[in-house]
Amino acid sequence: MASSSIPEFNKMLYTPLAEIDPEVKNIIDKETWRQLNGLELIASENLTSASVMEANGSILTNKYSEGLPGQRYYGGNEYIDELEQLCRARALKAFNLDPAKWGVNVQPYSGSTANFAAFTALLQPQDRLMGLGLPDGGHLTHGYYTAKKKMTASSIYFQSFPYGIDPATQLIDYDALSSQAKIFKPRMVVCGASAYPRDWDYSKLRAVADREGAWLLCDMAHTSGLVAAQELNSPFEYCDVVTTTTHKTLRGPRAGLIFFRKDLEHAKDLEKRVNEAVFPACQGGPHNNTIAGVATALLQVAQPAFKEYAKQVISNARALAAKLVAHGHKLQTGGSDNHLVLWDLRPVGLTGSKVEKVCDLMGITINKNAVSGDASALAPGGIRIGTSALTSRNMREADVEIVADFLHRAVEISLLLQKEAGSKLLKDFVRVATNQEEGKVGYTQVQELKKEVQAFASQWPLPGVDLSTFKKPAGVEDH
Ligand SMILES: *Cc1c(COP(=O)(O)O)cnc(C)c1O
Repeated sequence: MASSSIPEFNKMLYTPLAEIDPEVKNIIDKETWRQLNGLELIASENLTSASVMEANGSILTNKYSEGLPGQRYYGGNEYIDELEQLCRARALKAFNLDPAKWGVNVQPYSGSTANFAAFTALLQPQDRLMGLGLPDGGHLTHGYYTAKKKMTASSIYFQSFPYGIDPATQLIDYDALSSQAKIFKPRMVVCGASAYPRDWDYSKLRAVADREGAWLLCDMAHTSGLVAAQELNSPFEYCDVVTTTTHKTLRGPRAGLIFFRKDLEHAKDLEKRVNEAVFPACQGGPHNNTIAGVATALLQVAQPAFKEYAKQVISNARALAAKLVAHGHKLQTGGSDNHLVLWDLRPVGLTGSKVEKVCDLMGITINKNAVSGDASALAPGGIRIGTSALTSRNMREADVEIVADFLHRAVEISLLLQKEAGSKLLKDFVRVATNQEEGKVGYTQVQELKKEVQAFASQWPLPGVDLSTFKKPAGVEDH
């Protein structure tokens, strides 16, 4: 009886997406088509599992649960408590952490909010912090500001000062950092990066932090999957607090985690400070559907197969780097120890923006990135390339070498287009690249390579998509 009498005002609650909202459904399908037929090389992206998407799309999205397990502001949280406890236990297990020494807050909505909550927990307003400068591979949330503007909350609410890489070696300049810290006297040193192809020496940073009486925080957002797999040095050996995103190399849904030491003599209250900084200081109700996805991702991370995945990601990054070098290209630091390479395009006479644009036109997704010694922040001289997502599509060394060949050809085509444009301006370049009349040879070559990229990319499966039923959606370009 109850089911036969759904009132008109609630019928929409039971109608499938395709029926009630074909417009949004079509956009999702077009994006699925793009992911299937393209090559995802953005180093901060990955492809999460079908099971994570299922958890993330679950009914848990309905529940309010402000507070922590056992101490909620709302009723009905017995299963949400169970979920959050499970997620925490799995987070500690995934990183091999002793629950007597480390705790974790699994509620941050994302990496940026995790960082701001961690800063809120550890610092007073306008305290000093040092992070790796953005042009040297650091993240916006590590104190970024420009000459004219404090760009992020981390520089608006705190005083920040960047450290950098040594222009000669392009590695973190720990000695310079140490001397700068003597003068700047930071309350916190932040390590971790978004565009740094090598590993960190956490012991050197610990020595600086100890000398200055500063906190040492690692934001391992990019590399956490590789850290969990023990393929990179562990920041947990030296840091007081470790933050991460869960959607990069960790291969989960979009969220953040904050790990904190529970056994510090001088900060026995760290757990309380971090938890209160997340809620109520910075956030409201947790996204329980996401926490379920994080728990599922962390279960996968703790399995031996994930270690194989992480090893393959690194091996693929090295193979891709080696192939680019074999084509005569210059990479920052000459190669990679993790999941990404930074390609310096200045020696071939191109900007990152142009190569990003050409790659976009042919279904290869990368991003422009500053390289060491860039004169202009507006026209960065390089691109950043990562292998996490390609490895999640089952690719191995020989396959990413084919991708490296595509990239090399994209650069050659970009040079041709730049010549045809007869100008160094990006707008002329884009006009020629996208216009058959003006582009002539360059335009045709873009179209040819696009076909090859699509033929290659579409062979590989995409988690969460059933290729036997998925059809080309309306509104995507014909080839
Ligand atoms: C990606 C990233 C973040 C931000 O994560 P969001 O989920 O985009 O907020 C923070 N720190 C580092 C080092 C990152 O690479």
